[in-house]
Amino acid sequence: MNIVILGSPASGKGTQASKLSKELEIPNISIGNIFRENIELNTQLGKLVKPYITKGKLVPDEITTRVVIEKLSELNINSGFILDGFPRNLAQAKAFQQYYNIDKAILIEIDDETVMRRISGRRICPNCGAIYNIYYEPPKYENRCDICGHPLIRRKDDNEQTAMKRLKDYKENTLPVIEFYDEKGILIRVNGLNSPDEIFDEITKSLTRVR
Ligand code: AMP
Repeated sequence: MNIVILGSPASGKGTQASKLSKELEIPNISIGNIFRENIELNTQLGKLVKPYITKGKLVPDEITTRVVIEKLSELNINSGFILDGFPRNLAQAKAFQQYYNIDKAILIEIDDETVMRRISGRRICPNCGAIYNIYYEPPKYENRCDICGHPLIRRKDDNEQTAMKRLKDYKENTLPVIEFYDEKGILIRVNGLNSPDEIFDEITKSLTRVR
């Protein structure tokens, strides 16, 4: 099953994508993580995308779509894949459609106020990728990863101004993608205000129902 996960910044896409990837045993491709890893390693791609990401702007479509297609061609996707953070606009959705079919689009819905609060509290482990929130899911020891003990960091684009910009972009760009998948009859809406386990339950139930 080829799945895309849609939702505003901090809607919990990453968390659900990684849970689903384990459950369904299919790879999860987070384009945001691929970009961040490349920035960390200072690769050509990293240098190219850094100015966009730090300003909270979308990376140009040609670059983003090419990176996703290339990544998929390197992976074993016989049983399907999950895309987290892609497509983010209609042009990407249409370009991608020429290479791969999407079976289900999962939309995690949350309100703007929750987005802003989640973004201001989000901390990530740059070593193992674990995600925390100082308000909702704090680590056991302040600013240390529970899993590997590495100091936690705040994503550079997780500040209020950039967050507002990302939210505005989401509304302008991704709402047409939601309509696009809705018209195809493959959209599943879930309530992102529930706990991560409840959301996961709702997603897996919907996937079994419609399979
Ligand atoms: P995310 O981790 O999904 O919040 O993405 C972080 C940043 O990566 C975004 O703010 C964009 O700058 C860039 N990015 C992620 N996905 C895309 C995409 N589909 N198209 C363009 N830029 C993207």
